[in-house]
Amino acid sequence: AYFIIVFVISRLISIIGKLRPWTINSLPYEILSIDIATKLRIDPDAIKTASSDFGKVVQEEVPTAVLYPSSINDIVRIINFSYNSTVPFKIAARGHGHSARGQAMARDGIVVEMASLSDIHSNNNETKYSKAVKVSWSPSLGYYADVGGEQLWIDVLRASLEYELAPVSWTDYLYLTVGGTLSNAGISGQTFRHGPQISNVLELDVITGKGEFMTCSKHMNSELFYAVLGGLGQFGIITRARIVLDKAPTRIKWVRMLYDDFSSFTGDQEHLISSNGLDYVEGSLIMQQSPPNNWRSSFFSTSHQSKISSLLTERGILYCLEVVKYYDDHAADTVEEELELLLEGLHYIPEFKFKKDDSFVDFLNRVRSGELKLQSKGLWDVPHPWLNLFVPKSRIMDFNAGVFVDILLKQNKAAGPILVYPTTRKNWDERMSAVIPDEDIFYCVGLLHSGTFDDWKALDDQNNEILEFCDKNDIKIKQYLPHYKTRQEWMNHFGSKWSTFVERKSRFDPKMILSPGQRIFNFV
Ligand code: FAD
Repeated sequence: AYFIIVFVISRLISIIGKLRPWTINSLPYEILSIDIATKLRIDPDAIKTASSDFGKVVQEEVPTAVLYPSSINDIVRIINFSYNSTVPFKIAARGHGHSARGQAMARDGIVVEMASLSDIHSNNNETKYSKAVKVSWSPSLGYYADVGGEQLWIDVLRASLEYELAPVSWTDYLYLTVGGTLSNAGISGQTFRHGPQISNVLELDVITGKGEFMTCSKHMNSELFYAVLGGLGQFGIITRARIVLDKAPTRIKWVRMLYDDFSSFTGDQEHLISSNGLDYVEGSLIMQQSPPNNWRSSFFSTSHQSKISSLLTERGILYCLEVVKYYDDHAADTVEEELELLLEGLHYIPEFKFKKDDSFVDFLNRVRSGELKLQSKGLWDVPHPWLNLFVPKSRIMDFNAGVFVDILLKQNKAAGPILVYPTTRKNWDERMSAVIPDEDIFYCVGLLHSGTFDDWKALDDQNNEILEFCDKNDIKIKQYLPHYKTRQEWMNHFGSKWSTFVERKSRFDPKMILSPGQRIFNFV
């Protein structure tokens, strides 16, 4: 039966792929004889999924085959096979494909569908979460969870809540994989307090570009550990992460306050992140947008929205400061008072403070309802030419004047949420691959555009205009979820970390097999 299957696959590949002597497209012909050949798919559905992502901007990065691993060993086998081939082929782990620029794609190579390591994503069965996420405690580490790199954060949350525990650092949206966010940083309104997700990892299992399975931490194989955290998938495929957990609150108090003055808005944000007491601080711009596809607007009631709309017509642009305080039942009587004390003396527009009480889970999973709404209107599966930046605190006023006011407001082209909130450098370990500006406080700015298939290029042109503005005015931004077209741009991005990044690449993935979609070491 094995030989028949191998024969059928080889026939299919020779018909669908353009068979050349000794290779199937760029893959060595012998791939058909290895024991995981039956887990490779080349059918149009598999190829289409592996060559598309949330961004819907990059379309032409088509892999030759897609691996659906059923064990970690399958991934070891495929990387080993490529590493030992005369002409190694590219391999990319695909988490949930929520990149915006083809970062999880592998043209003419193999995409590894990480979700296939677990059938958990297609099955909302509670007991399965607990099997995939193992919660433990040790005197030296405290509470932690061992989770597969393919796991979605929503599943990590649900499983750890069974123990009344939860991770401390989050992203705004939870349908992202552990391996995918740890390859970037994983940031949100909790970052100022706990650091990004990459700062809350105790240990990793990684399969390097040589096909070696290695466990690493601050104390064991530490060079690999730091390389992989924020490493854009360049050094290995994460198959397990040990994530810090803390006691989970049950409820949250959530407040949004509106400002028409950017200086007061950022001043208050910076004040709040430097004082103890809040669990989450973010912020966003409010501008007239059409279509109304901002998934964050669900906070406001209809009467709030009409009040905000009239103010917006008057002012053109508003800034929304957003804070959250967690609490438990035993603090239910005092939390309101504590929160008010923390917000005392802020400079928001009187009358424009809106409060909400919610469950911890619904707050963390807040983007999901927005996603479902947009999906029902056909506004989710559209191009997303996103631009995410870290802006040094010292230049955020210039950034506001030049980008938010001069470019976004005047051109009236913004489409989607625009986030702006400060965070601190102190919880980012310099040894990690992630890159941030060289100042103690910097701003996370997310231009989370949604376009149409006809107009997304105009939004992308606007992104380029923003980057040029920063460049011309010497605003030393760093891109988050970076996307560059030349080696020189990557060198500038990494700055003093570039040589370490290159050394680590030659050590852990010397044949440059992994994550080619980032386009760091392979340009076309
Ligand atoms: P993919 O897109 O599948 O992969 C991303 C990169 O990581 C690729 O290079 C891939 O090859 C590599 N990779 C994937 N899995 C592994 C693995 N196991 N081991 C090694 N490399 C791997 N980010 C934030 O930080 N904060 C946010 O608040 C936030 N909100 C978001 C909201 C939405 C709606 C979306 C779509 C994205 C958001 N992101 C946010 C961005 C998100 O972190 C990135 O898209 C990230 O890439 C995770 O997506 P993914 O798990 O689907 O990874």
